Amino acid sequence: MRELERLGLNRGTAGNLSVRDGTCFLITPSGVKPRDLAPEGIVAMSAQGEPLDAAQRPSSEWRFHRDIYAAREDAAAIVHVHSTHATALACQGRDLPPFHYMIAVAGGADVRCAPYATFGTQALSDAALGALAGRRACLLANHGVITLGDSVERAIDLAVEIEELARQYLLAYATGEPVLLDDAEMARVLEKFKTYGVRRS
Ligand code: 13P
Ligand code: ZN
Repeated sequence: MRELERLGLNRGTAGNLSVRDGTCFLITPSGVKPRDLAPEGIVAMSAQGEPLDAAQRPSSEWRFHRDIYAAREDAAAIVHVHSTHATALACQGRDLPPFHYMIAVAGGADVRCAPYATFGTQALSDAALGALAGRRACLLANHGVITLGDSVERAIDLAVEIEELARQYLLAYATGEPVLLDDAEMARVLEKFKTYGVRRS
């Protein structure tokens, strides 16, 4: 959470983060600023979404963290941010289209925006899960971003990428209609990404 703040992706008590831990998951507590977080404040949750210690209060968004771990074997960590440019785009309820080949980092030819639902609700979790189908990131309308990864570092890296892409898209859009890459080109990029950055032994 301190890293997300340092990176400028969250301020105040915005956002939350979790990691899978066997059949359980560990999640940040609700409404605590990063500088006030301590290891003993992190909440261990059952797969059903019950805090193992009933005295602890998990992030208000524990439902989407729980549901993503249940639905997505590829999720070892989940990051939620209100980063400025991605959130500005999400306030228009818009998907990030394939205006740049790097859109493929999220796993497909676009990054979808989930329809608006109140924070902390099952409706928001359902909407997020739908928008994440086949992707490792989505926008949340009038709210922010969710990313997932096979490690917390990778989930954070993806949140940085999404924020940067949203910034580029907004800038490109401000001066006209960005040229989009077609499905065939995005398919080529997605294929190349399977081995991009993977170290050969
Ligand atoms: P929490 O402090 O409860 O995690 O809430 C922050 C947030 O971003 C809600 O969407
Ligand atoms: Zn939020």
